[in-house]
Amino acid sequence: MPIVHIDGVPQTCRDGETLGQAIERSGISLPGTCHDPRVESGGDCRLCSVELEGTLHPIVACRSTVRDGMRVRTDTEALQSFRRGTLALLAQHVSAASVARFPEKSFHRQLAQAGIAPEGDDCPALVDESHPLIRVDLSQCIACYRCVRVCEDLQGQSVWHILGRGDDSHVHWDRGERFADSSCVGCGACTDTCPTGALVDRRRLQDGPATAWTRTTCAYCGVGCELEAGVRDGKLVGTRPVLDAPVSKGHLCVKGRYAWDYGAAADRVTTPLLRQAGNWQAASWDEALGAAATGLADILRRHGPDAVGVLGSARATNEENYWTQKFARLVIGTNNVDCCARVCHTPTAAAMKRMLGTGAATNSFDDIEQARTILIAGANPPENHPVVGARIRQQVRRGAQLVVIDPRRTELAALATVHLAPRPGTDIPLFNALAREIIAQGWHDQPFVAARLDGFDAFRAFVEPFTVERAAATCGVDAAAIRAAARVYATGSPAMSLHGLGLTEHLQGTETVMALVNLALLTGNLGKPGAGVNPRRGQNNVQGAAVMGCDPDNLTGSQPLATARAAFERTWGAQLPATKGLHVLQMMDAAASGRLKALYVIGYDILLTLANTASTRSALGQLELVIVQDPFMTETAREFGHVFLPVATSFEMDGTFMNAERRIQRVRRALAAPAGVRTDLAAISGLSAALAAKRGGGTALPDTTPEAAWNEVRQVWPAAAGISYARLAEGGLQWPCPDEQHPGTTLLHRETFAGRPRATLECIDDVPTPEATSDDYPLLLTSGRNLYQFNAGTMTARTAVRSLRPEDTLDMSPADAAGLGFGAGDKVRVRSRHGEAVLPLRVDPRVQPGQLFASFHSPAQWLNALTSTVRDRITGAPEYKVTAVRVERVAS
Ligand code: SF4
Repeated sequence: MPIVHIDGVPQTCRDGETLGQAIERSGISLPGTCHDPRVESGGDCRLCSVELEGTLHPIVACRSTVRDGMRVRTDTEALQSFRRGTLALLAQHVSAASVARFPEKSFHRQLAQAGIAPEGDDCPALVDESHPLIRVDLSQCIACYRCVRVCEDLQGQSVWHILGRGDDSHVHWDRGERFADSSCVGCGACTDTCPTGALVDRRRLQDGPATAWTRTTCAYCGVGCELEAGVRDGKLVGTRPVLDAPVSKGHLCVKGRYAWDYGAAADRVTTPLLRQAGNWQAASWDEALGAAATGLADILRRHGPDAVGVLGSARATNEENYWTQKFARLVIGTNNVDCCARVCHTPTAAAMKRMLGTGAATNSFDDIEQARTILIAGANPPENHPVVGARIRQQVRRGAQLVVIDPRRTELAALATVHLAPRPGTDIPLFNALAREIIAQGWHDQPFVAARLDGFDAFRAFVEPFTVERAAATCGVDAAAIRAAARVYATGSPAMSLHGLGLTEHLQGTETVMALVNLALLTGNLGKPGAGVNPRRGQNNVQGAAVMGCDPDNLTGSQPLATARAAFERTWGAQLPATKGLHVLQMMDAAASGRLKALYVIGYDILLTLANTASTRSALGQLELVIVQDPFMTETAREFGHVFLPVATSFEMDGTFMNAERRIQRVRRALAAPAGVRTDLAAISGLSAALAAKRGGGTALPDTTPEAAWNEVRQVWPAAAGISYARLAEGGLQWPCPDEQHPGTTLLHRETFAGRPRATLECIDDVPTPEATSDDYPLLLTSGRNLYQFNAGTMTARTAVRSLRPEDTLDMSPADAAGLGFGAGDKVRVRSRHGEAVLPLRVDPRVQPGQLFASFHSPAQWLNALTSTVRDRITGAPEYKVTAVRVERVAS
């Protein structure tokens, strides 16, 4: 390793690092305005110049690579004079008012340190206030171009451009008169990096700078970006990315960056509520827990424990979900415990566990940068997992090939080498045809097949009838494109696949993921970097909720109840219920038929989000007791709740989340919860104690801390035994991590499949969905999220981000819109065989003729009124992605 002498002190450096990095690690802070550690340095300001022995002129530290034997001086009189002169020149571009207003901006701090007064002017004509999140004041720009580089190299959006030449050069957004009309997606990287008051968060103007920052994990999607929550006067005033976060590498999306103030919403519920004479009435915690316990005790006495269901939460921590399933199994005595993973990725977990032995992502996000080919199926990362979407975009720019399988021409589909747009519900014939083509062309990995797979001959015979031509006809895609996709994926090793709910929320969701795993096995794309099968998880802790045991058939660590029962009974010192539990959809069936009498729903708006609202509504209407635990009044609570327990948001509690690459990361309390609010952990323990008191005995969960609960998880789940809170101080660890010396596992299945030497190719036949189009319902509707909202909108709809996409829309192809005589913004009524919804129309060329797309975030539009009762044949996940509909104009 090179050794560099910095001001006479030898410093051991890392190969390839810049001189600026080495100097910074030595504890010396160099000035500079153009450097951002997340992207390559521009070196434009030259403020970090140092003197190098043996050269005549200073060199720019942030642009110079270390060499062994270098001797540099960082603080000579000549350097000081040069820096003062440069800072003074730049100071002519910033005004005293702006410096006083934003003293925390890095250039302003450097001016203060150097004792240089700002000499620039404010120019109101150069201020743009059009964007709801970001304020632009181009009069304060010092032309460091950091915004240009982060937008290009980190986000890949290229909103900011350099216009003009020489002294006239300046930055400007890409299109439109107003910044709000630009292509900005609100990731906030430009305001983070801007060293002056040119680009600032609007909320910063309103609230002032944070005085304390707490490192925690984003509460939205399964990427699991780490962020710092900024607090001032006990109030959350902003977030910023953690620069060295292993997952997000100093980046956030619009939700992590700006959709954080929902906890302060005026309609936050901060006192327990009891339904009395049809109306909610405020109650004390003792009264609310007492009422819930009385209702539960009565139902348990009359109907037994299996008349009660418990639902854990993807927004709650691992510890809280562990406690939730323990409450169901030990306090209530039922295996009726589930969570929203059922309706999204349970098919993935089931398929991967069956074929590979572990129901989780095989590789890590860092493998994106190692992949030569990326196959994205039924997922739209730039909108749903934006930080991963940005990494994929950058890897494609570096030359990786991209295959996108999606009915819509998404942003990544437009960048793809091959885009296949199959008719919704036809993925299995497509994947079987891809497998057949790979085998027919001899592109399968023959050594891998021989060494690690069973069932190849039977599989080859099975896929033989699935010709490319047959798939082209069934799926409505071009045969040549299917061939091209097979070639690109099979020959561009390492090839990683990323998939989402577009694959899983179908009649054959589990089998579709199995068909995808077949492709990875055939091509040897498992057990190596840059490859694998990698489900994107929709919610921050949906994987954690299920893995902690909010699953009727599996205990903590996804250990099957059937085989792990004895070990858990030993550790917990109690017997587990003997009867088979119900998943959430089966709970609805049982409620409808009168077998289920009570539901305890934690952080999950089932009425709004379960498919086919009519059947959910009729099931919930049968229940005698619905206990809802949430920070907000959900639609479930509003219509059917009897007891409401108000709980903390993730900024107000400690614990851990599990992201989509199996990484456990810390959640830290940045501010106190409002008075009257408890954590989920405390609420669950409180309810268990109240129930034990009512029943005069029985198991009660003790009050516990998140760390103590997590240490219990480590005891019962060997793959997490090495993950202590102390080791999670920064960045987290990926399971399996069996002991405290283990570094965590970035890559699964290197040599075996969870201990099994061989995997088996599965022959998956195609079973068409009964939800078919007809003369009455000629269009196929699919649904999904948009960038600016999140699931039921519980959090995002209570933030300023909402204004960027305030309502759900029905997206229709230009051809269909013209044929039906509709225009953008028309209110249209969508009717399915199951219900109807009214949405504003958006004409969207990304949608194919004959198909429609809608987001589902708002109770105002209530999209699940339309969806069917069809469920995945294996796991019971609803078929959200295929609904036959017709569209009518709403009479004015
Ligand atoms: Fe949060 Fe996901 Fe956005 Fe990261 S990509 S900031 S985890 S919502």
